[in-house]
Amino acid sequence: MKGIIASPGVAIGKAFVLKHNEIIIDDTPLTTAEECAAEEAIFRKAVEDTEAQLNEIIEITEERLSAKEADVFRAHLMMLADPMLEETVMDKINNGKMKAAKAIKEATAEIAEMLGSLDDEYMRERAADIKDVGSRVLENATGNARVSLATLRDQVVVFANDLTPSDTATMDMNYVKGFVTEIGGRTSHTSIIARIMGLPAIVGTGDILQHVKQDDMVILDSVDGDIIINPTDEQLKVANEKLEKFLEHKRQLDLVKNLPAETKDGHRVEVVGNIASPNDVKGAMDNGAEGVGLFRTEFLFMNRPTLPTEDEQYEAYKAVAEGAQGHQVVIRTLDIGGDKAAECIQFPAEMNPFLGWRAVRMYFDRLDIIKPQLRAILRASVYGKLCVMYPMIISADEIYQMKAIMDECKAELDAEGIAYDKDLKVGTMVETPAAAINADKLAKIVDFFSIGTNDLTQYVLAVDRGNEMIADLYQPLHPAVIRAIKMIIDASHKEGKWTGVCGELAGDEKGAALLLGLGLDEFSMSGGSIPTIKNLIRKADHAHVKAVVDECLEMFTAKEVNERLDALLKEIYEG
Ligand code: PEP
Ligand code: MG
Repeated sequence: MKGIIASPGVAIGKAFVLKHNEIIIDDTPLTTAEECAAEEAIFRKAVEDTEAQLNEIIEITEERLSAKEADVFRAHLMMLADPMLEETVMDKINNGKMKAAKAIKEATAEIAEMLGSLDDEYMRERAADIKDVGSRVLENATGNARVSLATLRDQVVVFANDLTPSDTATMDMNYVKGFVTEIGGRTSHTSIIARIMGLPAIVGTGDILQHVKQDDMVILDSVDGDIIINPTDEQLKVANEKLEKFLEHKRQLDLVKNLPAETKDGHRVEVVGNIASPNDVKGAMDNGAEGVGLFRTEFLFMNRPTLPTEDEQYEAYKAVAEGAQGHQVVIRTLDIGGDKAAECIQFPAEMNPFLGWRAVRMYFDRLDIIKPQLRAILRASVYGKLCVMYPMIISADEIYQMKAIMDECKAELDAEGIAYDKDLKVGTMVETPAAAINADKLAKIVDFFSIGTNDLTQYVLAVDRGNEMIADLYQPLHPAVIRAIKMIIDASHKEGKWTGVCGELAGDEKGAALLLGLGLDEFSMSGGSIPTIKNLIRKADHAHVKAVVDECLEMFTAKEVNERLDALLKEIYEG
């Protein structure tokens, strides 16, 4: 079967299929005391099973990650032990005459609603925990026990309808060789995290779960975008050869990864890394990164029941500042929402989450979230060369408001006698049409731009970046997108400011060639792409690339641009 290449590589192994069965609830009322007793027993057994599963997950999470990462499951265990759940379910079985499954479902919904309506924020956040625990108990009561990635003990290729970015971020590389999902696009965050982790992945395959069974032998070929289920010996041989060729190519690139990103005619640019956790800095630096162009801090807020404290964030930013060994690190403030959720933040139900209450838009309602983050970044700024930037900006107003909040944080630190970098540079993501069109204005009030081509493409073209059904319309090389990028870069240069690209386009060979020709200053990408892009830049002649890109700017269709850039890559590699 075919899919979209999310992260390149070849993985050969057994399939681990994550399937969520739809649970059908039986509404028939109970009539006798014996029936009630039997349903009570089903509930108690489901609670026992849930407790055992949670304990196993806690043990493995502590062993593989840390005690802190296991907190979310400890909170689930506490909710399970709380008599409120048991009492409500028992009442529904014995007095409401409901079967266990229905009683569990209703009890969970009622308790979650009650918690969600309380004034106390801590209690409100427990609503998400009880929902999760309730589903687990329900799954156990109906024979649909959840298979958990956290408890893998064998090396596998994971197959799922969808994985959340946080599922992917916590995958254990010792056990997961790669993954395949039925939905998603190349720039969904699940795919981005796979690239950051260097994990082979294919997304958007359509109904593959109907074809693959647990423990089937599979080949995940994310060099060509193929998945082969139960391969023949011949196919296995070809896949092993392909894997070897892929690794050999990587070894070749390793020879140039630490050299400067300078074209043959002496045009120098920066190639830096995108990271989602302090643990990713080393991988980026080892791949030849000259700093960090995007730290997606929202991942610090995922897989945990409560918000990270200012001190915890300070430790994370300090670790990144130090890990970058004197190079610049651009920290992006929390960009939650869209396809990224965090249990520790309550989101309203929204019709269009990508256009909704997300990123910078939520800060003004949640100063309790943004102020500790800014204070933590400021405090960590004495340990390296940190910059900060804001996501999803649409107007100068937002920049002014952020400046006021930043000034407030600085005044507080001054009063507390805490040191910070007084010259901390502040930039903005340019990823909305509004920011692109007004780039000449924004360039006057920030220190730098970082173009988020993933969202810019999605919003300029009005094409959902994660929807595999319209993946062919998601064209980062569409004339409208490339002309917007040119406007942004030119606007920044006119004001003497620099521009980076931290969207996936910078780590794509054709995209990087285009950006080189457009005069981009900083190319930020997942660590694994750095050697390829440095190699490309070092083999290119800037004047020639610029001339080709000038031609592309006159073209009418993405197809023409793609074809011209394909030819350009050939010219670069073949001399
Ligand atoms: C982007 O939109 O291009 C970007 C870098 O941010 P994210 O992918 O996290 O939305
Ligand atoms: Mg974005």
